[in-house]
Amino acid sequence: MIKHDVVVIGGGLAGMRAAVEAAEGGADVAIVSKLHPVRSHSGAAQGGINAALGNREEDSPEAHTFDTVKGSDYLADQDATAAMCEDAPKQIIWLEHRGCIFSRVPDGRIAQRPFGGAGSPRTCYSADVTGLVILHTLWEQLERFGVKVYEEYFCTALAIEDGIGSGVVAYNMRNGELELIAAKATIFATGGAGRMYLKTTNGYASTADGQGIAYKAGIPMMDMEFMQFHPTTLKENGVLMTEGARGEGAYLLNSLGERFMFKYAPNKGELASRDVVSRAEWTEILEGRGVDGCVLLDMRHLGREKILERLPQIRELALDATGKDAINEPIPILPGAHYTMGGIETDKWGATRVPGVYAAGECACVSVHGANRLGGNSLLETIVFGARSAKHALDYIKTVSNVRESARTLQQEKDRIAGLLARTSGTRAPQLRRKMNATMSENAFIFRDAKGLAKAVDDLKAVRKEFDAGVYVMDKSPTFNTDLVGALETDFLIDSSLALAAGSLARTESRGAQARTDYPERDDANWLKHTLAWREADGSPRLDYSRAVTITKYDPQVRTY
Ligand SMILES: Cc1cc2nc3c(=O)[nH]c(=O)nc-3n(C[C@H](O)[C@H](O)[C@H](O)COP(=O)(O)OP(=O)(O)OC[C@H]3O[C@@H](n4cnc5c(N)ncnc54)[C@H](O)[C@@H]3O)c2cc1C
Repeated sequence: MIKHDVVVIGGGLAGMRAAVEAAEGGADVAIVSKLHPVRSHSGAAQGGINAALGNREEDSPEAHTFDTVKGSDYLADQDATAAMCEDAPKQIIWLEHRGCIFSRVPDGRIAQRPFGGAGSPRTCYSADVTGLVILHTLWEQLERFGVKVYEEYFCTALAIEDGIGSGVVAYNMRNGELELIAAKATIFATGGAGRMYLKTTNGYASTADGQGIAYKAGIPMMDMEFMQFHPTTLKENGVLMTEGARGEGAYLLNSLGERFMFKYAPNKGELASRDVVSRAEWTEILEGRGVDGCVLLDMRHLGREKILERLPQIRELALDATGKDAINEPIPILPGAHYTMGGIETDKWGATRVPGVYAAGECACVSVHGANRLGGNSLLETIVFGARSAKHALDYIKTVSNVRESARTLQQEKDRIAGLLARTSGTRAPQLRRKMNATMSENAFIFRDAKGLAKAVDDLKAVRKEFDAGVYVMDKSPTFNTDLVGALETDFLIDSSLALAAGSLARTESRGAQARTDYPERDDANWLKHTLAWREADGSPRLDYSRAVTITKYDPQVRTY
């Protein structure tokens, strides 16, 4: 058995930031990760990370808080949001002092670009590879503190003894052994759930594992209905074209050559928040002003030099996938599934309802994004709440005298996996995943209504049943059994999808990324509240609205851009 003070599940930005904070605080900390940490999806982040650094008079953490709350369509908890925005400048400087190379303005200060929904340019960046640059900075810090990384270990379950989190069970993908990793505190940092959808900007590993593991262990998911569709993704493969492109001045055009965004957002145009831009694009496409099911992202007027300096990666990605060079031609794009606003319910320190269990980064719902996240706030969330959850955990572990060893959970997992591998027939997981993806992309996309959502819930319940009755893992090998791991991931994705569809069906209003054509208005009288989903024995979600939104300074207003 393995034992640590703190175990962090996930080696992306949230996980590494948490681990470094815990190690600096003197704890014995380890990371469990199904990927090598620097292969985490965080490394794909392009556009940047928000902080009111004080480079501009008009900007302040308070302005950042307001923009975030407005962007969230007033569903974010304002105390947590203020905590994030106030900590932001300190965290950027923390990163900078540890060698993170941000792009600069000529006088040497950190450069900041405009991003959607922001009242001032406050997105710090490293060209269009920001995530990768921060990821490598944190990896160096892990090496510096000698943090133990259990790499290519797939966490399958959370151990809870006497109501207290006591570590996890993980499957060693190299030899097929299940191991108990006991810990006084467990921090989930497992990333998003974009793979619920057919096409997504997310990596193949963004499969809602942490959400699913916590949910099965009795911790609720919060606000799952709010899925962000990013306005600029490639039709060919779902790959993202950063919002930084529009931040640098790129236009969106329809088939008539019109910059249509000003019809929908007279002040902000292309730099309205993502939900607004995605709906506008989809409306143009539905009303027949699209180009092959897309609209166009036009960067030509930025000029070769600026594109090569500030947006080199997306130019290459577009060239590879479409054969079009953004320097000379507009790039066809459309909205795609991008970011999971909902997740494991936590408080503003990242603590869940179970003592000793935390969540940070995209898998968590703190909530700072509410119904719609602003670009650049997610990298910030990983850094701020990675550090905050570790700070809280450092205090908490002082109160725990010994690590509880949950032999029970280990045995349960051994029996469960052995049961899966013993089956000799049934439905293969990829078939179930395709059914799930199809109904999600059809019925729980940008525009939603009761009929489609009810269909999604029915379809997903059927998928849940089929999975439980007899998902079939064909590969029986103990070495790198990706068939088994894929089946376990599909299990988690089905749970998240069901929580999303059921929450969306129940919420009879439009708010942020949830656009109901049958309930087009925001309804604060009835729906200014969070959705909690608890897992029932048959896998269906039980919805609960007991958690109110924390409002401190900003009363809900009509949201226009
Ligand atoms: C293409 C793209 C571009 C983006 N650009 C920006 C941007 O410019 N600015 C911004 O603010 N946000 C951006 N985002 C969002 C942001 O990058 C992510 O929300 C954030 O990086 C998530 O970090 P994370 O640490 O929570 O998770 P991830 O980086 O996804 O890491 C998850 C980790 O968990 C591990 N893991 C998962 N499941 C298990 C398991 N069962 N067992 C063990 N380990 C597990 C994985 O191995 C991985 O190490 C972008 C997202 C995408 C997809």
